Amino acid sequence: PWNFSAGPSVLPVPVLEQAAAEMLDWHGCGMSVMEMSHRGKQFVQICDEAEADLRTLLGVTDDYAVMFMQGGATAENAIVPLNLIGRRGAPVADYVLTGHWSRRSHKEANRYGDAQVAAASDAATVLDGREQAPWTWVPPVSDWHVRPDASYLHLCSNETIGGVEFMDWPEPAALGAPEVPLVVDASSHFLSRPMDVSRVGMMYAGAQKNAGPAGVTVVIIRRDLLGHALPICPTAFDYANVAAESSRYNTPPTYAIYVAGLVYKWLLGQGGLAAIETANRAKADLLYGFLDGSSFYRNPIHAPVRSRMNVPFVLADAAQDAAFLAGAEAAGLTQLKGHKSVGGMRASIYNALPLAGVEALVQYLKEFERTHG
Ligand code: PLP
Repeated sequence: PWNFSAGPSVLPVPVLEQAAAEMLDWHGCGMSVMEMSHRGKQFVQICDEAEADLRTLLGVTDDYAVMFMQGGATAENAIVPLNLIGRRGAPVADYVLTGHWSRRSHKEANRYGDAQVAAASDAATVLDGREQAPWTWVPPVSDWHVRPDASYLHLCSNETIGGVEFMDWPEPAALGAPEVPLVVDASSHFLSRPMDVSRVGMMYAGAQKNAGPAGVTVVIIRRDLLGHALPICPTAFDYANVAAESSRYNTPPTYAIYVAGLVYKWLLGQGGLAAIETANRAKADLLYGFLDGSSFYRNPIHAPVRSRMNVPFVLADAAQDAAFLAGAEAAGLTQLKGHKSVGGMRASIYNALPLAGVEALVQYLKEFERTHG
């Protein structure tokens, strides 16, 4: 079946095949990766190579630490303020709200300090002559109110549920607060295209969409932001400790890091992030192009910020949702039900889903419209 799950989601077939082939005996050492000491030479090689390949893919300079952690992006919602909110004295941080995940991040940060809203798409607005519902658009950077004394400014650059994507991160100068580093939750479009890491102070991503199996969270942070954790920050979550020990301060999620490393090698073999972006654009253009040409289906997101990874859409008549999903399942198209908070459908079309999967989906959409429209 074609798997449109929002995550954990589809992995590249060659990655799964290699992991299966090496499951019992990694490179002739007689052990599975799962059985290795995280301080032994084999795993150290696996972990360091994964970090090096990730640096190559994203062009991360040595000014940044790259870490593999645990707890998912949800734990990062706490670990970020624990590490950064007190960095400039008073615990103050600003948040841009564009949907479910950024709102969750903001709510959690308020447990550790004064987290205020710099901008939010929480109201309906008119853009390009069209009415946009709340959470279907991105407030223009010129309307963000960033406090000059904030320790950081947080945003979620791809709202997995809403389907809203920042196609670029704002230049630090555009924020009008040059001392305030950007902190980005990039979980659901991480590694889907080249990203200018130099624009952010920090980014994080749960791996389980584009970058490996569940269980590992990637954190990339500028080194000058290390070493400012609140006294209550757990030692194992203090970025300074994790960075100093190359992700091995305590036992990391070894197998998940290994599979993530295989995904990075697969991406390099595809031609890197520019090549995967071209493939992702083709898939998204095909799907959005079809949805826009139909009056039976509708994607509600402001066109310039439509996610290339998560494509929510509704049927003209929600009473047909159940029939649509049952037919999709029978046609081998799984996990198309939208998140319960927005309803409708959602097709997540991550890196490892080939164009053929989107072609099969469009074929089904056409057929369902013909028989039910
Ligand atoms: N942030 C984003 C953008 C997500 O898509 C998700 C999960 O889907 C999360 C955070 C939460 O991730 P986790 O379940 O790994 O904690």
